Amino acid sequence: MKILMVGGGGREHALIRKLKESPKVTEIHCAPGNGGISKDAQCHNVSVDDMEGMVRLAKEIGADLVVVAPDNPLVDGMVDEMEKAGLRCFGPNQKAAILEGSKVFSKSLMKQYGIPTAGYHVFEDPKEALQFIREEGKYPTVIKADGLALGKGVVIAADETEAAAALHSIMEDKIFGASGNRVIVEEFITGPEVSVLSFTDGKTVKPMVSSMDHKRVFDGNLGPNTGGMGTISPNPYYDDATAKRCMEEIFLPTIQAMSKEGRPFKGCLYFGLMLTADGPKVIEYNCRFGDPEAQVVLPRLKTDLVDIMNAVIDEKLDELDIQWSEQASACVILASGGYPGKYEKNIPISGLDENGQVEGAIVYHAGTQYRDNTFVTAGGRVLGITAMGDSLDQALDNAYEAVQKVRFDGAHYRTDIGRVEYSD
Ligand code: ATP
Repeated sequence: MKILMVGGGGREHALIRKLKESPKVTEIHCAPGNGGISKDAQCHNVSVDDMEGMVRLAKEIGADLVVVAPDNPLVDGMVDEMEKAGLRCFGPNQKAAILEGSKVFSKSLMKQYGIPTAGYHVFEDPKEALQFIREEGKYPTVIKADGLALGKGVVIAADETEAAAALHSIMEDKIFGASGNRVIVEEFITGPEVSVLSFTDGKTVKPMVSSMDHKRVFDGNLGPNTGGMGTISPNPYYDDATAKRCMEEIFLPTIQAMSKEGRPFKGCLYFGLMLTADGPKVIEYNCRFGDPEAQVVLPRLKTDLVDIMNAVIDEKLDELDIQWSEQASACVILASGGYPGKYEKNIPISGLDENGQVEGAIVYHAGTQYRDNTFVTAGGRVLGITAMGDSLDQALDNAYEAVQKVRFDGAHYRTDIGRVEYSD
């Protein structure tokens, strides 16, 4: 069978590496892909924003299965377009992807169906929002742009000045465009964060093994937020009792709520959770695999991913028993100097073999290109180096050992992935 993967980051590389293990797969294509992906799949120069071009490509190559991995094309309805063209596609349609595409939608769904989340208010006018924040006088306060904002639409404001600045840039300067037409002002909650990705066919939900992201750029959870600097799986804070509670209070109610609203969610639904003193609460939903969560969760998957994707599309997920490895996994991200701010590209990477790999680990390529027999940097997050182990400590030791083998000018990474204790 032929597969087309839409996207070109570390998550897509992790999906491709897992799909390649399936005996059912004969060809994998990816658009646009990246340097590392080009060693595992045939890459095509079609951008994820080019809806028509992507449908054309899927038809040209005769894809038996299309996987749409990134948020933007999902929220813009790429799955709907693929299906209209008669293609089988893994991912939520536009009506379901709104769960990530609009925080106003997801918060009101949670409110209506009693799904635990932080308290909030919605504003269309920045002056009214600021007035509310001032009167409430509770800091820090959380301000979120309604729509997609490249993972940068959340501001934790320490005081009124910061809140005013955030409202100004989101709602007046429109740094995220129409995503900032409305904002959520949310209660600040605390607790360890857990990412739980799940497979769902709209009726059944099967959570994957848990994971933990590290969003801040520097050790000790300091510095600005990034797309994610590293992940571990399992998440040490997520025990069986919490998992059971999340299933009953969050996962199933969300799937059922979406179906009741006439928006059955089929694909990978990501639950961003905070384990507060009052129990687990939803911080956010994503309508796709998390990046870099996929890079630690997928290596632990033992069941054929093609079978799972087919079961999701055919709404037969209840018939499938999904198996996971007992081993732990850890992923350390190597980023370009300056990231998440400005950074240079086209810097040669040394230490990788001809397939872009190093011994003892799996190297998922995010921002790389392959040119003149060399891998060069092409993005902020460059590589995700994942290793497995019998314990989390072992997985981390293995990952960091592999990290030592790879070099490029300006490269930086966190040295404390999986080793920072939670503190309020
Ligand atoms: P992404 O899609 O990249 O994960 P996002 O822009 O959708 O990010 P959120 O995940 O909603 O943003 O929030 C980013 C981070 O901000 C969270 O991981 C969490 O650490 C913090 N955060 C969000 N909401 C709250 C809240 N109500 N209280 C405290 N911290 C919060």
